[in-house]
Amino acid sequence: MLGEGVSPDYFEPTIFHMIRKLLRRVFKGDSTPATPNSKSDRPAVIPVAKHGITRERISQGARRTCDVLQQAGHKAYVVGGAVRDLIAGIVPKDYDIATDATPNEVHMLFRRSRIIGRRFQIVHVMQGGETLEVSTFRAAHDVDTVKDEHGRVLRDNVFGTQADDAARRDFTVNALYYDPSTETVIDYHHGVADLQQKILRMIGEPTARYREDPVRMLRAVRLSAKLGLTLDPLVSAPIQAMAVLIENVPPARLFDEMLKLLFSGHAVECVKRLRDEGLHHGLLPLLDVILEQPMGEKFVMLSLHSTDARVKAGKTLSPGYLFATLLWHEVLANWEIRKARGESSMPAMFEAMDEVLDLQAEKLAITRRVAGDIKDIWMLQPRFEKRVGKSPFRLLEQPRFRAGYDFLLLRAQSGEIDAELGDWWHTFQFADNDAREAMLVADTDPKKRRRRVRGKKPNGGPSEAATDSPTPRADGEI
Ligand code: ATP
Ligand code: MG
Repeated sequence: MLGEGVSPDYFEPTIFHMIRKLLRRVFKGDSTPATPNSKSDRPAVIPVAKHGITRERISQGARRTCDVLQQAGHKAYVVGGAVRDLIAGIVPKDYDIATDATPNEVHMLFRRSRIIGRRFQIVHVMQGGETLEVSTFRAAHDVDTVKDEHGRVLRDNVFGTQADDAARRDFTVNALYYDPSTETVIDYHHGVADLQQKILRMIGEPTARYREDPVRMLRAVRLSAKLGLTLDPLVSAPIQAMAVLIENVPPARLFDEMLKLLFSGHAVECVKRLRDEGLHHGLLPLLDVILEQPMGEKFVMLSLHSTDARVKAGKTLSPGYLFATLLWHEVLANWEIRKARGESSMPAMFEAMDEVLDLQAEKLAITRRVAGDIKDIWMLQPRFEKRVGKSPFRLLEQPRFRAGYDFLLLRAQSGEIDAELGDWWHTFQFADNDAREAMLVADTDPKKRRRRVRGKKPNGGPSEAATDSPTPRADGEI
């Protein structure tokens, strides 16, 4: 839930808010719902026979946390993405708990817990190896809500009822509450039916909800791709016109959201859908130019396919590597321009790297560490061209060799460079020392060198000299 438009750093005296809200309701009869269809105070209670989530299917930590809260007399449910995913047959990646207990009450009940956030507090409860995020029911916003000039909600920190809590969530499929003690799903907005009909519907009026938080447009794309849902026409219709509002989202949040999207295991589908919705252009700097260059697109798509495969295989992911691939063709394009201006090759390449990185880092708040990783991978690329002397041995010792090599293979696969270079490095790294030395000798054989310069390689492929690849040459010159 930390991904929402509201930073947990905001803390207002919440009891004060609740009392004020109550008084307002009592004296002014103000029971206006925050969003047009948030009035569902009588939710459907769906039995296990209809949704199939038995108690055993949720994590032990989530079960125990709900049990402890309920035994202390509170309401407690698994909420949001986990319930949605379980009904859709996907294993949830984490569990969020919603309760009517205040953060302090939650904290008192769990020895291994800590309150985080200042303005809007949530509690992290540790159970075995799991961390559960426990939040108190919260209302969308009221007259005190602070917004920017475009209507984006900056602070949203009012406790509320369970119905309020359901109404402030984004999509109907995300407003489901699972009670482990009764094995029922509490559904305020027909989310279960929408999930079964494979449709992503907004709670409330989509344009208003996008204005409050433009990131919901990206969430719509990501969730629909992940769950194979169709966007309700009301959800997709305003996106193109409202896409520009994403520019007002703080860069750090955009970066987080982009990472979620790219590491969702459905990055290829997400990017396709971003395009369908007109969201890739002019607003996500990363995807903008890249997807319009045919070579760039092939490279990016190969990278996204391999990222999806890694997610599905449960392998580790490196944001640095992914962003290095996404931005590589920007670097190449920038480098070409510099060379055309007469700048010398290697310095021009380093300048190009810096410029591309600075521009993106500013818009997307790429963290310093990730930026460092990206640059490391890029800087290794020219070194793969040097296949003589001690150079290849030194490259093997580099801590980032593996990432650099994978990146090289991607370049070869996309047709940017000769496949032979990737093959050579494959053989070289797995060979014993004698074989490695022999490879160097073979590579520096004067006859072969002459042949390569004339444009005929032993494997018949285009030579480095013949290809118009902007890749640095073996001698370090570009
Ligand atoms: P996943 O965890 O698979 O990425 P999720 O829906 O669980 O998807 P989270 O960011 O973990 O996403 O959010 C948890 C829940 O908080 C959501 O299911 C939704 O109910 C609510 N939520 C998250 N972001 C928003 C938002 N921008 N606006 C309204 N509600 C939101
Ligand atoms: Mg989640």
